[in-house]
Amino acid sequence: MITLKPFLLLFLIAACTLSFGQNLPTSLPLNLIDTNPKTPFNYFDATSTISAQSLLEHLAFLSSDELEGRKTGEPGNLIARNHIINELLSQGLEVTLQPFSFERRGTTYDAVNIITAIKGSENPDKYIAITAHYDHVGIGKAVDNDSIYNGADDNASGVAAMLAMTKFFKENPPKNSLLFIALDAEELGLQGAKYFVENKGDKNILLNINMDMISRNKNNEIYICGTRYTPSLAEYFNGIPESTFPVKFTLGHDGLDGKDDWSTQSDHFHFYRNNIPFLYFGVEDHSGYHKPSDEFQFIHPDFYYQVVKFITNSIADLDSKIE
Ligand SMILES: [Zn+2]
Repeated sequence: MITLKPFLLLFLIAACTLSFGQNLPTSLPLNLIDTNPKTPFNYFDATSTISAQSLLEHLAFLSSDELEGRKTGEPGNLIARNHIINELLSQGLEVTLQPFSFERRGTTYDAVNIITAIKGSENPDKYIAITAHYDHVGIGKAVDNDSIYNGADDNASGVAAMLAMTKFFKENPPKNSLLFIALDAEELGLQGAKYFVENKGDKNILLNINMDMISRNKNNEIYICGTRYTPSLAEYFNGIPESTFPVKFTLGHDGLDGKDDWSTQSDHFHFYRNNIPFLYFGVEDHSGYHKPSDEFQFIHPDFYYQVVKFITNSIADLDSKIE
């Protein structure tokens, strides 16, 4: 996730308004069948299909010192990219690379989005786009003699989750097509998401599910941002009995609850801007946020595993209910 200083945010809003001449959408409708609370959430126990060990191994590798914080354009980012590509290929999936360049503060960066698709059995031309950024901020100012900003929670956690999900959905084919996109250059201004959305052509993307920081919370709590704009999704999550999952999920952080508004704070922003409903899953900021201490040893493995099963179950169930 990126956090903007207030003046920067004001500048950005002004710049967006000037260059795009549009205000952000206030309503992003999505039709779901069976959102009546009397219709049970289709719960399944994904323990047998999602391996906690493999999830944690991917997270540990992606956030290891060897990858030097995965900054876009740096060698560690390329190692992360190759790791993701190799894992997807080993799962028998096809991988499409989407290279792009952008300029920021006088520097030109080369970046690459990694895309894999799982074809829908009923609506192959309708897509749910599942995103997680694999870059982080690299090497920076040392804190306690540590200058590697590992980005374990931000966002090795989202990428490792995505790698578990591709495997799950390859074995459990969806009704709509799923696009999994490991995005680059989020930390440099949501560049990968911007490029992807601007170049999606006429692809009919029904929903974006973005994961960014999903592994570290001492209160066992994950937020879902975005339902404010899509009442059917709010109704859907409110209809899931609290006891269904061992993690607490709370709808919010989208401008109505007095907390920071995260609607613009990670890659889902570019889907939102382009009138695509979105759900952003993320934890509250923690002491490791954008610090060298965002390390594997400080994530909460049990919480993380439960969150990944919860999001996977939600995607599978939502896929079956999107009209
Ligand atoms: Zn992030």
